[in-house]
Amino acid sequence: MTERIDGHTLLIGLMAYPIRHSMSPTMHNNAFAKLGLNFAYLAFEITNDTLPAAVQSIRTLDMRGSNISMPNKQKILPLLDKLDPVAKMVGAVNTVVNDNGVLTGYTTDGTGFMKALADENLDIRGEKMTIAGAGGAGTAIEIQAAYDGVKEMSIFNIHDQTWENAERNVKIINEQTDCKAQLFDLADQDAFKREIADSAIYCDSTGVGMKPLEGKSLVNDPSFFHKDMIVFDTVYAPRTTKLMEVAQEAGVEHVFNGLGMMLEQGAEAFKLWTGKEMPVDYIRDLLFDQDDQK
Ligand code: NAD
Repeated sequence: MTERIDGHTLLIGLMAYPIRHSMSPTMHNNAFAKLGLNFAYLAFEITNDTLPAAVQSIRTLDMRGSNISMPNKQKILPLLDKLDPVAKMVGAVNTVVNDNGVLTGYTTDGTGFMKALADENLDIRGEKMTIAGAGGAGTAIEIQAAYDGVKEMSIFNIHDQTWENAERNVKIINEQTDCKAQLFDLADQDAFKREIADSAIYCDSTGVGMKPLEGKSLVNDPSFFHKDMIVFDTVYAPRTTKLMEVAQEAGVEHVFNGLGMMLEQGAEAFKLWTGKEMPVDYIRDLLFDQDDQK
């Protein structure tokens, strides 16, 4: 990598806390090297308190941009000059692009989800989707899917601190897109079964299935699913979650973990900064062959 860095190298950051565990620096720096692009990607431990100065430094240092993660995804909104329409609807930003001092915020989690399906030649536009969860990932997926043309959406949530989020998502989708969204209490299992049965895709965005809830699933009865639907879990560690096992037991044809979404949200950001397609297959092999050997 040192061979690539010179006086013209453009810096891209990742501003979050904690962040040292992130795979994004490895993902992006290897993609830059593979394509011979003169960029470098570094992680910075940034909290809400240091965020304003960090965002100003994007301008001062003439950085090309940054990824933004927790706890800064919402807090960054008023610090930017422009917002992509979907980022505005989602109310969160995970990617900033600096065009000559003008900072624009985007969210690529939802586009990453849609792209992960497109990579499998699956198109959910015009279809019905049932989704559990309305936190960061759920909100991005719900708003992007509705914006892109999903026809109907049933959102299931528990009565925790994200319930209001779920209500907000339903309101925004119904007011600002052609999709018809409804919110249900996850405790209503009859509704949960009925809505999934009527859907082309069921997505779990709750994290149930990864630590500390590894081995758990919100759906445990294979009869909830039908064979020709899509079952998508945003979790990517473990690679096969309990939900995916239940779907496989039901004979569901299209069952996915969150790896494709994770790679494609990075690829979408990569494209915003560089104008180039990330070599996703190369990065998948590089990152996850290593990971799977652990
Ligand atoms: P979050 O904390 O913002 O939201 C969590 C959501 O899950 C909330 O709606 C909450 O009500 C619900 N939930 C939590 N525990 C639950 C339980 N026991 N039963 C039912 N619902 C429950 O989290 P997040 O940032 O949205 O992340 C959620 C999951 O998505 C995590 O597993 C994360 O790793 C994954 N994720 C994947 C990607 C990707 O690219 N694949 C990107 C972002 C997040």
